[in-house]
Amino acid sequence: MNKFFLGGLLAFAVSACAPSEEADEGAGADPGVVNLYSSRHYDTDLALYEDFTEQTGITVNLIEAEADALIERIQSEGELSPADVLITVDAGRLWRAEEAGVLSPVESEVLNERLPIYLRHPEGLWFGLSTRARVIIYNKEAGEPEGLETYADLADPAYRGDICIRSSSNIYNISLLSSIIANQGEEAAEEWARGVVANFAREPQGNDTAQIESVAAGECRIAVVNTYYLARFAGGDDEQKALFDRLGVIFPDQDGNGSHINVSGAGVIKTAPNRENAVRFLEYLTSESAQRYFADGNNEYPAVSGLEANSAVEMLGDFKPDTLNAVEIGSNQAEAVQIFDRAGWN
Ligand code: FE
Repeated sequence: MNKFFLGGLLAFAVSACAPSEEADEGAGADPGVVNLYSSRHYDTDLALYEDFTEQTGITVNLIEAEADALIERIQSEGELSPADVLITVDAGRLWRAEEAGVLSPVESEVLNERLPIYLRHPEGLWFGLSTRARVIIYNKEAGEPEGLETYADLADPAYRGDICIRSSSNIYNISLLSSIIANQGEEAAEEWARGVVANFAREPQGNDTAQIESVAAGECRIAVVNTYYLARFAGGDDEQKALFDRLGVIFPDQDGNGSHINVSGAGVIKTAPNRENAVRFLEYLTSESAQRYFADGNNEYPAVSGLEANSAVEMLGDFKPDTLNAVEIGSNQAEAVQIFDRAGWN
């Protein structure tokens, strides 16, 4: 595999076997190539791309960067963009790509059959390939927070001074609030945000890993984090495991809508020069073996139902996910940002 820097972006070419027989139409098309713009960067993803090349003869050219930078790049490249597929995390970012007009609808029986309806865009603009849940954790030594079962409960004055959570500019919190807007309406969502702010143990700081460490250290009693961060500790070295053992995990809203989940997903680019290869690549990523690798890359849950996550993720326990369509999570983003602002959630 060749690895090189391109305009500040990391780029890889996963070397090809024999080129595919299949030919795409259109200018700039190369029957043996698919150009992938990805904001994921895991070794297991690279192994997957190599496997795809082995199976199909199609070379995967990979450009890695932050999602917003990739979307901007595709926009500025315009008609001449070599991008065929965009992979990114969080419905919020997939929605931004949709809004930017860089995605094109895909009609694939394979994708529609394998992926549950709530994990894909209704017009096929993008497809969720793996999921993560946003859950509540607590310090076991400080005692199980009695009655804490839902996201709504986080606003209960019983938890004054107890809650650590990252800033509201973070896409995970924006998506969580978007889901609360979709499920309960704007007014309830704003009341909730104000209630959580009133319960802050400290001003928002750090990423999800920092919240986990703070709860384990007893600096905060309660925090809200994505499952894959927890699984890193659960499946980590002895020190990380010891830290994980100090935590209790609550999957919220199990008697209601289910726990808020989000996706890692991909869409085909409107100007894709190698569209057929792009669709084939997405279909490949929903195959059973690819699903495991893709989900494992970041300790996520496979999007195809019936497939198990890795053992570290399974340690967190079973749960009922909120099956709100990811489109709704994306489309409430702007409102969510305004609510956070009004609520004083920095
Ligand atoms: Fe993350």
